[in-house]
Amino acid sequence: MNSNQCSFCGRKRNEVKMLVSGNNGFICENCIEQAHVIVKDSMTKNGFSPADKIEDLKKPKEIKKFLDQYVIGQDQAKKQLSIAVYNHYKRLLHAKNENKEVEIEKSNIIMIGETGTGKTLLAKTIAKELNVPFCIVDATILTEAGYVGEDVESILSRLLMVADYDVEKAEKGIVFIDEIDKIARKSDNPSITRDVSGEGVQQGLLKLLEGSIVNVPPQGGRKHPDQKYIQVDTKNILFIAGGAFDGIKEIIERRLNKQAIGFSSEKLNKAEEEDYILSQINAIDLRKFGLIPELLGRFPIVTYLDRLTKETMIRIMKEPKNSIVNQFVELFKMDGVKLKFTDQSIEKIVEETMEKGLGARGLRGTTEKVLEDYMFDIAARKEIVLSDDNIKL
Ligand code: ADP
Repeated sequence: MNSNQCSFCGRKRNEVKMLVSGNNGFICENCIEQAHVIVKDSMTKNGFSPADKIEDLKKPKEIKKFLDQYVIGQDQAKKQLSIAVYNHYKRLLHAKNENKEVEIEKSNIIMIGETGTGKTLLAKTIAKELNVPFCIVDATILTEAGYVGEDVESILSRLLMVADYDVEKAEKGIVFIDEIDKIARKSDNPSITRDVSGEGVQQGLLKLLEGSIVNVPPQGGRKHPDQKYIQVDTKNILFIAGGAFDGIKEIIERRLNKQAIGFSSEKLNKAEEEDYILSQINAIDLRKFGLIPELLGRFPIVTYLDRLTKETMIRIMKEPKNSIVNQFVELFKMDGVKLKFTDQSIEKIVEETMEKGLGARGLRGTTEKVLEDYMFDIAARKEIVLSDDNIKL
């Protein structure tokens, strides 16, 4: 072993700033840096490409199990999403195969469900599990070119941003388009009061959804003639859209009645009947609601999220890995305070939240309010047991 030179590049001791010694050689700072880059590159590559072999892909059942840790209930949506994501990544593997005769098309997903039922949470959790870039865009900010607002391409600007402008990485990302119902065509749906350009935006979205090379303004916003664009291929980007679709129930009901399906003959209570009707949703109803057929064709999977019952809300308070109860217990623990929620206190928080109609999204706010005084004077007690008697709402 020559102690006067780097064993990797052969540079002499006087040509480098330092030589680090190992068991059988030396390495200079240049080679350390280069090695670091190689390691980092290969790590991020492994990080975002889920697997190279079908055996290494997580199966739908495993994906659902992961979702179960964060999202309570919504079994049907979780199941469909797990299958869709699995198939999506199978498709990516298949696309690498050069002799393929069959081209598998992607399956974007629409999730229908009231606000705060977990649509965004589902999409976010999936992205976390897959370790791919993920972004949320609100369809209401998008407008047809020529109107005030953002061009549809700005969706991809966001994805690029979260992928640190690594185009290859962004091209395998997941985009969640929220409030897709707000760009429904007005004429078919009298309950939507806005918008002049809904149909135009839908047309614009088609281009992204069907898998094409799109010129993306790196900073988002409006396209500008002298701006430099980044080209992004959307072929492998998974789009998940979500919306509440207010008024869809009546549309489904009308269709079901027409087909004379006897759901009303079964003994269902009102909430069950409503869930049953909504679970029958399909593309025909969405078309009636005002989504154009071409767009619907790009979203072959339509899934429905159940409304949250009191029981589900109680479980949401307690069960997810980062449940609200766990979060606040942890927060108080940092000050050495033992916080305990009794079942009655949780029930009260849930009841209060349900009155606000914000879905599970309101749970945190209600809990904050309940704990406000305790947090303000955090040093006053060593133990707090929230119960029916002392809960302040
Ligand atoms: P949506 O997109 O359907 O309007 P979100 O997914 O944003 O609703 O839900 C808001 C918040 O409510 C989430 O961040 C989560 O804390 C909670 N939440 C909603 N639904 C669920 C659920 N099914 N399981 C666990 N938490 C939920």
